[in-house]
Parts: sequence; structure tokens; C-alpha cells
Amino acid sequence: METENDDKIRRVRSLRTRPVRSSSESLQRVRSFKTTSKGLVNRGDSLKLNISGVHDSPGIKKKTTDKESCTKDTCQDNVEHFDTQNVVSENESCFQCYYRVLITGAEGVGKSSIIDQFMTSEFLGNASFNISQSEGERTVTLQVDGEESTLEFVQSEDFQDQDESFQIDGFVVVYCITERATFDIAIDLLKQIRDEVGSNKAIILVGNKSDLVRKRTISQEEGRSAADAYGCKYIELSAALNHRVDELLVGIHKQIKLKSDAENEELECKIPKGKERKSSFKRTKRFLEKVFLGHSGKDKKTENLYVD
Ligand code: GDP
Ligand code: MG
Repeated sequence: METENDDKIRRVRSLRTRPVRSSSESLQRVRSFKTTSKGLVNRGDSLKLNISGVHDSPGIKKKTTDKESCTKDTCQDNVEHFDTQNVVSENESCFQCYYRVLITGAEGVGKSSIIDQFMTSEFLGNASFNISQSEGERTVTLQVDGEESTLEFVQSEDFQDQDESFQIDGFVVVYCITERATFDIAIDLLKQIRDEVGSNKAIILVGNKSDLVRKRTISQEEGRSAADAYGCKYIELSAALNHRVDELLVGIHKQIKLKSDAENEELECKIPKGKERKSSFKRTKRFLEKVFLGHSGKDKKTENLYVD
């Protein structure tokens, strides 16, 4: 008999290409973050008017949302930024990529709530939490340490009608720390996703509802070691309190980037180009590990979403 999870995984398997995005999206929220050795700094949200998509003026290059064709040369945005308080106008050059992330897990664990909170730096609070926001915005543009990316969040039901080519770049598997059954489902999903995508995709295990301290039934150690067993990252958060939701959002972005950098590096290594680039990649990796882990933080690696 095919279970609901089998069905979910079957649909995960059928994801290969992304649909062409509408150029009518001219105003988008950009959430800015800076990663520091002391943690994540939220630098606020702004609204970006993408005039290049509307007015095809000479000298302004079209923004590309297609990851495959996105390079520093082709991806030069000419944008105006409308800060929620101040209007800022700038002509910036950035390296923007578009990624799709699947959020999966048992019913009621808080997937929609997490996505809603990803969309804004504003605390959504209880009122918004009782309304299902599944019809709401699912795409957010991030600027992390000056590098811009757009993340689209999808849930299992979103790709029922998609063909074989709908591609997923990262996976977030959510459970509720108070319900053992949701943890069991998450582990099952982790296993199936790992089996399917191998080791070159970002996967993050999320224990939600960390605010329900007294009802906890799954310890942090249990969550962490499950993540370890499947070679993925782990974080506990509370969507209701907006606690560590930003860390997850930026962590997904970092993990996808790290995986795709490693993949590119692997490809380049297959075509020998001298040792220089390989060693500079290793140096960067060592630097990141030093900044975010310190020298003795190896055991915390599973919970550090900013390193490989
Ligand atoms: P989904 O079915 O996985 O999309 O779950 P929802 O996002 O619809 O959330 C299910 C219920 O859990 C809703 O009543 C939310 O208000 C609640 N919820 C979501 N996140 C949290 C959280 O971090 N803490 C608490 N206490 N409740 C939450
Ligand atoms: Mg939902």
C-alpha cells in the first residue's frame, strides 16, 4: 500500500526543471542579513523595484532568475530600493540566484507558519498564526553579506501537477518537538530524501515549537544525532515566537550555496586546472569553520548552518 510519505517522496523524485517566472513581478521585498562571528545580524527589509524587467533601457541588463544562466557577467541588477522608512536608490551589481526549497513534514508541525515568518522581519504574532497563510507569498529575496538570492518555498502538495523536471535545490524536514509521531515521520522522510538525492543536496532537520518547553518529548540530542546519521544540519526554533527563524532562512541559503560550490569545485577538479583553486576553496572552508566554530567546536557542526 502506498503511504502518504511514499506519495510525497514519489513527487520529490519528479522534480527537475523550474517554470519560467513572470516578469510582471516588479516590486519585491529584500531581506538583508550579515553573518558575523557573533551570529546573524538582521539588517532589515526593503522593497526592491526591479525596473530592468519593465523598462528595457539600453545599458541596463535584464535580471536573470535562471540559476543556470546566472553569472557575475550576465546578472547585473539596476534597481531602486525602497526602504520601509527611507527611500534608497542605488545602482547595484550583484550575483543573484534563484533556488527552490521543499518544506516537508507531518501535518500541523508548523510548515506554513515557518514559511509565513520567512517572508518578513516583522513578528507575525498570534493573530496571523491562527489563519492558514497557504495562499500567501512563498518567495523571498535575501541579501546575505551583499550576495543576493531568491528562495521559493514549496510544499509537497505544490508539485502534484508538476512534470518530471521541477527542480528542488534544498530540503527542510520539520517535526514538532512535542510529538513523537511527527519525529518518526521526519526521520522516514530524511531517509527517503537522502536515498533519492545522494549527498550533494542541502537538507536541514528542524525541530519546531521550541517554545512548548514543558511538553517536549524529543530531546535536542535525539534531533541532533538523527541529523548526524543522515548527514544533514539541525536546528530547533519557534515559528510562533519568531525565534531562530532567520537563522534557518539564512542557513538554507548558505547550505545550498555550499553544496553548489562544492559541486562546481568537484567538476573543476575533474578538469585539472592546477592546484590553486582547489587550495583556495579549502582555505575558505577552513576560514569559515574557524570563524563560526572556533577551534574546538567540531561537535557543534551539525547545528552550525553556515558551514559544510
Ligand atoms: P502545517 O500543517 O505544518 O503547515 O502547520 P501550521 O503552520 O498550519 O501550524 C499548525 C499549528 O501549529 C497552528 O495552530 C500554528 O499556530 C501552530 N504553530 C506553528 N508553529 C508554532 C510554534 O513554533 N509554537 C507553537 N506553540 N505553535 C506553533
Ligand atoms: Mg500548512
